[in-house]
Amino acid sequence: MTATLNDEALKKRQADRRKPLKARILFPMPLPEPFDYAIPEGMNLTAGDVVIAPLSGRSQRGVVWEVVPDEGERALKAVESRQDAPPLTDELRAFLDWSARYTVHPPGVFLRMALRHRDSAGEPRTQDVFEPTGQTPPRATEARAAVLAEAAADAGTAADLARRAGVSPGVVTGLEKAGALRRVKRRLDPPFDIPDPDRSGMNLTDGQKRAADELVSLVKRDAYAPVLLDGVTGSGKTEVYFEAIAEALRRSDSAQCLVLLPEIALTQAVTRRFAERFGAAPAVWHSDVSQVERRRVWREVAKGRARIVLGARSALFLPFTDLKAIVVDEEHDGSYKQDDGVVYNARDLAVARAKFAGASAILTSATPSLETLVNARRGRYAHVQLPSRPGAATLPQTEAINLREQPPERDHWLSPALVKAVAETLERGEQSLLFLNRRGYAPLVICQACGHRMTSPETDSWLVEHRYTGRLVCHLTGFSMPKPKTCPECGAEDTLRPVGPGVERIEEEAKARFPEARVETFSSDSAQAPGEVRRLVSRMEAGEIDILVGTQIAAKGHNFPNLTLVGVIDADLGLKGGDLRAAERTYQLLVQVAGRAGRAARPGRALIQSYAPEHEAIQALIAGDRNAFIDAELEARQAYGLPPYGRLAAIVLSGPDQEKLDQWSRRMAAAAPVTDGVEIFGPAEPPIAVIRGRWRRRILARADPGIDLSAYIAAWRTRVKIPPSIRVQVDIDPYSFV
Ligand code: ADP
Repeated sequence: MTATLNDEALKKRQADRRKPLKARILFPMPLPEPFDYAIPEGMNLTAGDVVIAPLSGRSQRGVVWEVVPDEGERALKAVESRQDAPPLTDELRAFLDWSARYTVHPPGVFLRMALRHRDSAGEPRTQDVFEPTGQTPPRATEARAAVLAEAAADAGTAADLARRAGVSPGVVTGLEKAGALRRVKRRLDPPFDIPDPDRSGMNLTDGQKRAADELVSLVKRDAYAPVLLDGVTGSGKTEVYFEAIAEALRRSDSAQCLVLLPEIALTQAVTRRFAERFGAAPAVWHSDVSQVERRRVWREVAKGRARIVLGARSALFLPFTDLKAIVVDEEHDGSYKQDDGVVYNARDLAVARAKFAGASAILTSATPSLETLVNARRGRYAHVQLPSRPGAATLPQTEAINLREQPPERDHWLSPALVKAVAETLERGEQSLLFLNRRGYAPLVICQACGHRMTSPETDSWLVEHRYTGRLVCHLTGFSMPKPKTCPECGAEDTLRPVGPGVERIEEEAKARFPEARVETFSSDSAQAPGEVRRLVSRMEAGEIDILVGTQIAAKGHNFPNLTLVGVIDADLGLKGGDLRAAERTYQLLVQVAGRAGRAARPGRALIQSYAPEHEAIQALIAGDRNAFIDAELEARQAYGLPPYGRLAAIVLSGPDQEKLDQWSRRMAAAAPVTDGVEIFGPAEPPIAVIRGRWRRRILARADPGIDLSAYIAAWRTRVKIPPSIRVQVDIDPYSFV
């Protein structure tokens, strides 16, 4: 390098070295860039250091993004102090910068995610936790039993146990008084057990071994290596990626792996499998993990002592120091896309983080997203396949039930063929899953007297009736109200009728049809506390439930060995919507839900109720011909230059005054830079036109491949100075079009 420097450059460099230095500091807040500060005498700062510096008259925590020569153009405020904390690595800072640029967000909002759970100084090192004494309490209630079960699984604070069991903390202290729980001191941050990669795993089939070997050889490169692990449901993808993780752990004593899961409900089962395979439970990171535990995970990750982290999308921003592999389980899953606040797709950011860390990125799925599949077909990602289930397990036999020919009775939703199949499954002592991706009792409540539809005052969308709680709920905003006795429009009494089914109504029908069966519902409403989810999954695994009625939360990833029948109540539900990914998403969800059946020795069956069984997504599902569906879908996307043959970005504007919003939306659209290969659509009124009193408008940009759409949007944003009452949100690679 020095050899290429000419004299002049060399002189400038020497002069620069004599100049005082300044620190460019990024704060964890939505500011456009890092700010410059003087470095006081005697303070030694390097990039990544966490510091305190004055900002708007207050001492704020920030991170040194760069240290550069101070040209002395203007007087700078000085850094106040350097915090005694592990610095943010170059890799993490580069990743945060890239993420901000890619998603067109200020870098500070990504820094905030990386710093959110930092150690707070002076924190107590121990806490009081409760563990069972072994004594049975004199008065046994359901709440008490739930707390005792949680405490037996893992001691916790009163608040923690109460949250996990879904009861009030008083139940915990009541159990202490009754002598069933005792209070002990626990260290707050014990290190995690060290996983042992050389414990023997399952005996892999030849096909699995081949796949595992391919992954292992990628990990051995010690470099960025993206790969799609593409295997049918139940083919053993988890067992196969365990081998890749084992190899990654062997690379060094501080090697770390991150496994992202799409659904918190899956954590328990996957944690158990990790513990069995590696002899140590992984660190777990998601929104239901307690603050104390999250602080512990953050710290142990930063110190390089948490070696395997299992988490939700925000785990991507943990301060890993030696990341060797990232697994994105069920990579196609829409829940990797965060639509609120900071809008990003954790799957895409995971691949980016792997790139900066020089790690493998293993994306697994039975139904890969079209983007990932095209990356694999083009050779940008390695493609490892597992075409069959191991041993005696076979893919479920899938059939459509044409509801036009054999409809259910009026106000019922199970067709005669499905009822018969459930009855047969019950007789064999096996389990059924009835799938409907709709929470609550009924998606619409209508007045029989005047035809009035109950809508949300905030969004104008239909209110969903929930019978468990007796309320009408807006699923978009969470607004809810008790179901009124009289129609708010015409005043008639007892005329409000539920229309259409939600899972609660299917549960009601199943109970009426099969009074002897044990029927339960699995949705985000019925299983709110993490402990409730765990207990429900355990009961299902243990065969204590005969018919499980579930939303998509039940469709993903679970392994219920005795589940042999899956009935899809309404396969057409997802095909409506009309957005870009409607067919893709429906196909993926149906394959996933059908894939819950017959995962062990007994063969499974999937029955798909539909009014339009000729739709290509349903036909491909029945024929088990994924490629037929994908090729048809890709062809359609190619014709319009839609992803993965082009890119999309949305700009959503919202504000309280509709007229003003329209004006500024039009101005924004008109300001779009004119460039070959970029088309602008809108502003348009989205299907959900108002949320919490704010009207919304959408502008969509479509770009040909090869165009830097993020840079385009960033340039566009600066052309219009939008007033503060109007919020502008950029969504790169949008998933949802509502
Ligand atoms: P996937 O992640 O592809 O859906 P899993 O890894 O969850 O599949 O495996 C499905 C089920 O099959 C699990 O219960 C797993 O333990 C079992 N299994 C996978 N591979 C084998 C094998 N080689 N021998 C025995 N059982 C296996």
